[in-house]
Amino acid sequence: MKIVSKISELKYELNKNKNSLGLVPTMGSLHMGHRSLMKRARVDNSFLAVSLFVNPLQFGPDDDFNKYPRDIDEDLVILKSENVDLVFIPDIKEIYPQEFSTKIIVDNLTRIYEGQYRKGHFDGVATVVSKLFSIFKPDKAYFGAKDAQQCALVKQVNKDLNFWVKIVICPTIRDKNGLALSSRNLYLNSQEKHAATLINEGLFKALDLFYLGEKRSYILCLKAQNIIESNSLLEINYIDIVDKDNFQKHTHVENNSLMIAAAKIGNIRLIDNIEIE
Ligand code: AMP
Repeated sequence: MKIVSKISELKYELNKNKNSLGLVPTMGSLHMGHRSLMKRARVDNSFLAVSLFVNPLQFGPDDDFNKYPRDIDEDLVILKSENVDLVFIPDIKEIYPQEFSTKIIVDNLTRIYEGQYRKGHFDGVATVVSKLFSIFKPDKAYFGAKDAQQCALVKQVNKDLNFWVKIVICPTIRDKNGLALSSRNLYLNSQEKHAATLINEGLFKALDLFYLGEKRSYILCLKAQNIIESNSLLEINYIDIVDKDNFQKHTHVENNSLMIAAAKIGNIRLIDNIEIE
């Protein structure tokens, strides 16, 4: 496995590879969710590259950039075991040199739901993804369905800026209690982790209700809300049913409906979603 930190070095390595290139962008602190993306990309491509970069641009002033979990040694062990060909670990100046002054701003989608709670977050994501797509020029790039709004954003940027990358969305990986894996779960103590599972429980109980014939979004959301609110450690930011591609509200479940939820436990925000169709 080649480890590179400079863009020039990366270009040199990529030029040697004439076959299909799969890219998995990550911020490190790798878990089974990230690994599922790598496994899928490994099967699809002859060359598998992973980027490991905690992108400061997507963290707001109140966010956890400085204390975001980082463990490069452990990540490298995981990357090797997933048979990754190349890992790109740039420092901040390599991606954003001092004179860097371009930002990719996406309208509409980025101002609602996660965008409303994390101002500027999606501009940071759109900018770094655009940079990574320009640098790597991958054939395919892999993202997790857990971050559904990010998936919609990446597809939009890819289309608007003609990157021609095939975007592959991989299913959410959960722990044995159904909690969506996230690097931020490391911040939770066992009591908080237990409370956090109510988020996925709420979504799945709403899905059960849908299967029983209920199609009205507000009833389904109320079901999830009651379950999540049953634990006082959880503070709901939003629960809604939206279109998977543009995050516009669905008053009734339709094709392409996604049920989304975000809740806070102390200072930690957790998000989850399920397709409801
Ligand atoms: P991050 O390191 O948090 O930026 O995540 C890197 C990629 O892994 C993103 O595309 C995430 O959506 C994806 N990912 C994170 N958690 C999970 C999960 N539990 N299941 C599937 N994909 C995930």
